[in-house]
Amino acid sequence: MTLYDTIIIGGGPAGLSAALVLGRCMRRILVCDSGRYRNERSQALHCYMGHDGIHPRELLKRARRQLEPYATVSMKCLPVCDIGQEEDEFLVRIEAGEAARARTLLIATGVVDELPEIEGIGDLFGRSIHVCPYCDGWEHRNAAIAVYGRADKGTNLALLLRQWTNDLVLCTHGVALSKDHRGILGRRGVAVEETPIERLEGVDGCLRSIHFVGGRKLPRRALFFNTDQHPRSPLLERLGCRFDESGGVACDESGETSVRGVFVAGDVSRDVQLAIIAAAEGARAALAINKRLLKVDGHLLYGQELTLGLAVYGWLCRQAPIRLGHSPLARRTACLLGTPAAFAAACAIVAVWAVTGPLFGYSDTWQLVINTATTIVTFLMVFLVQNTQNRDARALHLKLGELLRSVKEARNKLIDLENCTDEELDQVERQFRALKRREARQESEAGGNSRVGEHPIKV
Ligand SMILES: Cc1cc2nc3c(=O)[nH]c(=O)nc-3n(C[C@H](O)[C@H](O)[C@H](O)COP(=O)(O)OP(=O)(O)OC[C@H]3O[C@@H](n4cnc5c(N)ncnc54)[C@H](O)[C@@H]3O)c2cc1C
Repeated sequence: MTLYDTIIIGGGPAGLSAALVLGRCMRRILVCDSGRYRNERSQALHCYMGHDGIHPRELLKRARRQLEPYATVSMKCLPVCDIGQEEDEFLVRIEAGEAARARTLLIATGVVDELPEIEGIGDLFGRSIHVCPYCDGWEHRNAAIAVYGRADKGTNLALLLRQWTNDLVLCTHGVALSKDHRGILGRRGVAVEETPIERLEGVDGCLRSIHFVGGRKLPRRALFFNTDQHPRSPLLERLGCRFDESGGVACDESGETSVRGVFVAGDVSRDVQLAIIAAAEGARAALAINKRLLKVDGHLLYGQELTLGLAVYGWLCRQAPIRLGHSPLARRTACLLGTPAAFAAACAIVAVWAVTGPLFGYSDTWQLVINTATTIVTFLMVFLVQNTQNRDARALHLKLGELLRSVKEARNKLIDLENCTDEELDQVERQFRALKRREARQESEAGGNSRVGEHPIKV
């Protein structure tokens, strides 16, 4: 059975865009597609830069054709019917009895819109009944439009659509709207119709009128709705991926789900649902998949972890409570460690160690506890005591510097002595030895009457 780097399930904008990126990375890819893409009923795709107005089928055809030069990309026009995980690999069962294995998976199977149960809606969906004002609002600008929806969802969609026309009616299909909602809609010039809809009448996919229960009819050119939707495929659930409260699959910003190695892109991730965004998500997931494969193969530094570690370290260093609290703690610890009581406590610990050893038969656990405890305590003490020593040494040097600077005959050159190299310190030491010898000579010549402090030292 062939092992692919990635199997992409779903050949819509998201899946094909990912296939292109991964094909260009020379990854071994299999794309499986059942051919039931979301906007299959639509005649023209909009908001896709460079392809505005293209037939959705034509866009997919072009995308598939552009994958042909990439020899590592294979395509199967069949649905995936089952999926499973075996250790680090995924097993994908394709209809017609075929199967394939993959190191990573990209699920780009899209969603299905749940059409309201209204007679006549099926024939008009995608032509004059729409879900997205951004995709199809412009084609119906300034026309007589209806919105189907209840409560918040319906009101919000109507307020949005008002941007494209001022001849707008919100149909709540038998649900009474709150006074607040009615007020907001009234101020924007949106009419409300609460009578249940009986059927829709249209010709060649074009809506003509909405028939209400009771016989009234409302002439309209288009209707928009935003009812629920569900994933086209149950594969993510079968893999055990986590879902969030809104019903969308939980994933990080690269599209990786709670199951390591399983990525999602496009409408199935329930982000903004536009074809161009689905394509962008596909490309983004492809980059993450390629990076993951490089990491697994050991061809990539664990850059993210390193960056995270440095960021945490930087953050800790900037925290005032840590900076301000550390020095007093270090000073107190250093003082405490030098007291007779601390020495007595240390002796007591050694005594406990000596007594408990035979009691526990010098067991592995006893050794583990003793060794770990002493190592941790010593490790932490080193940092605290070193901090105090560093500060003491610095303070001492500064005080000496101040003394040297205030003694007229002293050389300012000696102020920064702690920063000299070993060679420079050797040289100064030699000069002081020569001085000492000269002074001893002078003392013996003068009969031993002079004292060192009475003669300025000059080199
Ligand atoms: C009527 C309508 C009009 C729209 N108009 C526009 C528009 O003008 N502009 C715009 O940007 N967006 C538009 N959209 C939204 C757009 O269609 C989606 O955002 C886009 O198709 C999402 O791409 P996708 O790749 O995530 O999913 P899809 O395009 O739905 O592709 C998913 C693919 O996965 C396949 N699949 C599913 N299950 C399986 C399985 N088990 N095995 C194998 N394959 C599987 C399906 O066959 C399908 O080909 C419209 C939507 C609708 C409903």
